[in-house]
This record gives sequence, C-alpha cells and structure tokens, in this order.
Amino acid sequence: MAALDSVEFGEVELEEAVARAVSRTRSPLHAGAAAWVQHACLSYLKASAELERELKGIELRPERSPRVVQGTSPVEHRILTTWGRWYVSADGTVREFRRVRISRHSEAEAPSTLAAAFVVAAGRRAAGKVYRDLPIELFPEDSPAERIRVVEVLLGSDASPGVLIDAPPDEIERAYRERARPVAIDLVAGGSQLPGRDCGECKLRPGCGGLPRAPGLLGVSGRGTHPRTWSVTTGRLYELCPAQAHFQDLRLLGRRDGDNPAIRRGVAVHEWLRVAHGRPSAKACSLDDLPDPDSGDIGLADDLMTVAEYRSVRPFLLGHLQVCPLDDPALVTGVRPEPMMAVRDPDADVVVVAEPDLIRRVDGQVVYREQKTASRPLEVSGAEALRRFPQLALAVCLVAAGVFESTTVAEDTTIGGLVELEVMTPVSAAVLTFDASDPEVLATAREIVAGYAREWHRDTEFRATPGDWCAVCPAARWCPDKASTGGRTLVVDGMVIDVETGEVLEVRGTPSNRAAALAAEVSEPDAGHDDAFSY
Ligand code: SF4
Ligand SMILES: [Zn+2]
Repeated sequence: MAALDSVEFGEVELEEAVARAVSRTRSPLHAGAAAWVQHACLSYLKASAELERELKGIELRPERSPRVVQGTSPVEHRILTTWGRWYVSADGTVREFRRVRISRHSEAEAPSTLAAAFVVAAGRRAAGKVYRDLPIELFPEDSPAERIRVVEVLLGSDASPGVLIDAPPDEIERAYRERARPVAIDLVAGGSQLPGRDCGECKLRPGCGGLPRAPGLLGVSGRGTHPRTWSVTTGRLYELCPAQAHFQDLRLLGRRDGDNPAIRRGVAVHEWLRVAHGRPSAKACSLDDLPDPDSGDIGLADDLMTVAEYRSVRPFLLGHLQVCPLDDPALVTGVRPEPMMAVRDPDADVVVVAEPDLIRRVDGQVVYREQKTASRPLEVSGAEALRRFPQLALAVCLVAAGVFESTTVAEDTTIGGLVELEVMTPVSAAVLTFDASDPEVLATAREIVAGYAREWHRDTEFRATPGDWCAVCPAARWCPDKASTGGRTLVVDGMVIDVETGEVLEVRGTPSNRAAALAAEVSEPDAGHDDAFSY
C-alpha cells in the first residue's frame, strides 16, 4: 500500500516507490518477498488501467482517507471500516472501493462484501487514524454518492478485476441491513473459542483455554526465534524450497494456475464425502446416495459438482461404500467431517494446524481418517506409508498426545487411538490402519514429524533452492530464483511424477521426503495456501 500511495499520490515511478517501501520495513525483507511487492504493484496498476477503460469516460481519482461508519451511544463508540484502496469521481457521485486478494475472488453476496459496500455508501472520510482514534474526526461530505462500486483486484493471477457490487446506495444499505448486519452483530457479541489457523497470530495463545497443548509435539529443541505456525504443508514446502515455505507463511502463494485432473478429482470426492458424513443422521454412505448419472438425478452431488464431474468421480465413491467409516457394527459417535485442528506445542512455541478428513469415535476410541484418491492402488504400508504421507505421522502424534480428548491429558501420557488412510481407486478402496499406542508406530511417526520440522524451526533466512519443482510452484511467476523448467514428467529421487495429470507414475525404492513432498504438491488440493488478504 505504501508503494501504491507513492505512485498514486506522489507521482513517483513504480520502481523507486517499491524500493522506498521495501527499505522502510521493520526488519529486512526476504529478496523474494521484495520481488513480490514489485509484482503485486504492477498487477494492481494493470488492473487499474483495465477498470478505467471499463468505466468509459468516468475518471476516478484516488482518496487518501478511508471511509468509516461511526456509531455512538451513551456507553460506547464503534466504527465500521474496511481495508483497501478508495476512489471517487470528480463530481463525487461515483465511489469505488478496491479490495485486494492473491488469487481467488470472493463472493459478491458474502456479508463481508456487503459490509464493505455499506461503508463506501454510508461512510465518511476519516480525518484521523482509523485504528487508533475513537471517536474519529470525519471530513464533511462534498456531495452525495449515486453509484457505489466494490471491486476486487487479484495480485497473484492474470484474471481481470472483478466488479462485485455496482449499485445505488439505497439498494446497498437495504442489503446490508438484511443480510450483513446480523452477522456483524454476532461478531461484536463474540462466541466460543474455535481454534484454527488464526491462533498462530493471536496474542492470547499462550494461555488460551480453547487451544489444546501438546508439549514436544514437533520433537524440536528450543523455542526458536519467534512464535511460528506449522502444518504438514509447511513441512513439505520447506523440503522442496525453504523460500517457498516462507512465502506460504506470508500467505503470498495463493492458488496454483490450473488444477490438474488428480486435484479436481480429489476436491470433488472430498466435497461429496464431507456432505455425506456431515448428515445429522450420521448414516453410512449407500448405493442410494450415488444414483446413475444418466438417471437425471445425481443425489448429494447436485449442489457440489456438474454431472460430468459426478460421472468421473462416482467410481471412486462406489469404492468408498466398501469402507465407509460410518458403516460399522460398533458404536460410532462424535463424527466430525473435516474439522480444523490447531494445537500449541509450548516447548517449540509453535501452533500446529491440521485438517483431518474425518474424526469419529468407535466404541469410545478416537479414529482419525485421511482419505485419498489414486488412479491405482498404492502399494505402501507401515513405516513407508507414514513417510510418504507425513500427515499420517502427524495424526499419530496428535492422537497419542490426547488432543482429541475432552479432558486434559497429563504430559508424557500416551493416549490410545487409531489413524486410518483410506485410498479410493476407480475399482476398489482399501484402508491402512495405524495404532497410535503402538510404541514402534509412535516412535516412527515422531521421527518423521521432527525430520520435517527441525531445520524449518531454526531457519531465519529461508534461502531458495530452485529445482524441477519450480515448475509447480505458485511463486514461480515472480520468484527471482526460479529455475527454468520444462517437460511433462518430473523425476525426483526415484519418483516419477506426471505434472499434467498429478499422478505418480513410478516409485523406485523408498521415496525421499522431497519426492513425497513434490508428489503431494502436484496431486493434492492446496488447502493450506491461504490468501494474505482474505477475511
Ligand atoms: S520458484 Fe523455485 S526457487 Fe522460487 S520459491 Fe518456488 S520453488 Fe523456490
Ligand atoms: Zn461414507
């Protein structure tokens, strides 16, 4: 924002504006992050030119002051504002707010979008510091607005800017009061604690009763240089290239361009399973849930995917019927599809996040299931499976640490429970099971997790290690260290991977962490790649 301010208000050339902004950061910026700033500003200015063309003759000028809606009562002051860039036409009748995102547009109907539009329509320009002054002084308004626009600019994608809202103020105020205000009231009222990715940046985390503790979970020594957040995705990216893991931590990666068939298939199957296992009845999946795609009824899939997508994933889901976790003669309780987990390892000062595909209790014992699709059965078992899929190793450590128990577990106590890997292919499905209370399984799992976390935990430089994997790195469009790549297949440490389909074609010997990391990056949805600007 500082660099764009210099360009839009100071008439400074972009390169100089970026150099100034980068030199003023509190700590030296990673060279790749500095390159991202330049790339992001260029993307923004390109989008601005596109928006100008689209507005045909209406010239918008930037405004320095954000708008706020301020409310006061005898007991409190409150303000509503939104973060982004502000524009207005010369006669004041057109107001535009531009929100930035990395790679995905938000929904026009989302309460946050309506709230932003309401601030543009009903707000006045702040004369003081928005996040400091309360109440805040406001500039008088020159003329009433007639047209309100909320536009979104993607900084990490070639997609055009998205006009989310373009409407008169009264229409916006009505929509805000009906659909967004109730959400805002709930937010202000607060609620119960819901641990997740944001815990890593929350100042209350050391003493928060809602965030489970698992001392020694990562198996690293010391507390590192600062509080950090770690997931298996962090570990895998670090294995490929420490710089890429750093960019993920800064939430700059966004989404890869163009998903391959393996990723699209995985997303559709996971969506279907999440809905099927989330039914209030907790009933097992059955053939009735998977009608013939030619019948004109695609059942649960109707809201989730096209008929063509359903046709392609139905064989995998038919395989799932043989191993549905809810189809069990034992007592199945506490079914939670895709819960977000956050756990604090106080020894390492790290918040560890994980997204199991399904948690359930079977006769009271916790069972953690991961689900995968593959074009053919995976011929792995035991320690090799834990190494190839490190999320299973982390799952074993989480179960053994007792983070799924409702009562506090004493340190150094190992809790029983199972971890499962379900692999669905077009012709069959199979489940591999790991017992978290088995000392050998637990020792292997701990060694794998520590192997992924150790170097990362003490790294402060995050040097780039370019290689063939740059071909699938979301940072490649701006990373200054990117290797030149080409070819459809990647061969890394004995593993042969088809980049276009996302399939592992061949595994020679035990794959290295790096090969396993690349296979996962190519074939798994990038759920862990958050957007720096989403809220
Ligand atoms: S493009 Fe290559 S060098 Fe750059 S961050 Fe990605 S993997 Fe690392
Ligand atoms: Zn099922």
